[in-house]
Amino acid sequence: MSVLLWLVLVTAPRAPAPQAVLIVTPRGETSVPVTTERGTAAVAAPRLGPPLGLTVALDGSRVTVGLSGVVFVFQLGAPFVRAGGVVYGLVGEPYVARDTVFLPLHWLADCVPRAVGGRYRWEPAPGGDTGRLVELPIASAVTATPPSTPSTAPVLPPSPASAPNPITGLRLRHGVVIDPGHGGVDPGNPGRYFPSGLVEKDITLAIGRLLRAELTRRAIVATLTRSTDTLIDLTDRGALCKAACDLFVSIHVNAMPDGRRADRVSGVETYFLSDAKTEDQQRVAQMENEAISFETGTSSAATGPLGFILRDLQVNEYLRESAQLAQLVQDSAARIHPGGDRGVQQAGFTVLTTARRPAILVETGFATNRTDGAFLASSLGQHKIASAIADGIVAYLLELERKRAVAAPARGR
Ligand SMILES: [Zn+2]
Repeated sequence: MSVLLWLVLVTAPRAPAPQAVLIVTPRGETSVPVTTERGTAAVAAPRLGPPLGLTVALDGSRVTVGLSGVVFVFQLGAPFVRAGGVVYGLVGEPYVARDTVFLPLHWLADCVPRAVGGRYRWEPAPGGDTGRLVELPIASAVTATPPSTPSTAPVLPPSPASAPNPITGLRLRHGVVIDPGHGGVDPGNPGRYFPSGLVEKDITLAIGRLLRAELTRRAIVATLTRSTDTLIDLTDRGALCKAACDLFVSIHVNAMPDGRRADRVSGVETYFLSDAKTEDQQRVAQMENEAISFETGTSSAATGPLGFILRDLQVNEYLRESAQLAQLVQDSAARIHPGGDRGVQQAGFTVLTTARRPAILVETGFATNRTDGAFLASSLGQHKIASAIADGIVAYLLELERKRAVAAPARGR
């Protein structure tokens, strides 16, 4: 199939939006229109091709963009891009309308200069009407651009001590990555007591979106690993939580295997990563890890002995924090859940091993239980569980701010 793909850039809603972006290279300049609305019919085709040597290919839900010898791999509906083994978060999700690929402007402004190693510099316009991507002459490229920021450095520095947020009492800016489990060809559990063909991936996405809204309402920056029905590699999901991300929360729905007691088991439980201790914990971990069989095997996760050791160190560093986060979220969710409190659990979830921050997985109830199933499929139930998880996250962040203040009292910030 040969499809002509045009590239239009979109900005995050409500961000100061340039009308156009100017691309300046030694070989000439070109202006790229910027649209702020989803689904806008393709604006006059921006011709990124000639000046930047850009190639675009669409394969299923995967978009591959080549630029200056660097290959960027996007997943439609997922707010990140992979380049050279590094995962970069994006402020919006790529999507396709007719024959046009829509990419967030953030990709061009932030990811390209970082990934293409000092050959481009982004110059935002003071008025916000036009930004410029400037290709540097080869000779000055090495010295003209400071080395790119290590990916572990905070992107959003904590704002100076300010009045606490009136809703939450939080003083600093926080970021959370929300991971709606499963998606695309991986439906998750079949959802015996969900109505009208709903399956686990639908419920996790609905709760994930509501959780993002609840956190936004509490002035916390929340990002989804997927905002549509698409499959993201398990190892890429956790990798999205770094830099400005304080914690990672994966949302799932539990299921009991067929059996005489299958219908009776109900309730909410929250996992943090460690070796599974009981047979039941092993069952849940195995079930959620099975998504690996749907994946493509091109993941960016560190592999081999060194990657394993590095992951292990990070995991230990965040184990205690993860356990506390899990307890606070579990306490909050159990208060509103009709199925009861199954407590905090530990198991080896692949999705949690790659997060660089405290990470938990909430099994929001059992699709194999009539009451839990009806609760999770209802709008009221989904709102309740999202709001309760958000409250638990705020409780954890308040505790985190308190500990940081104790650890660095003399810094006066
Ligand atoms: Zn699941």
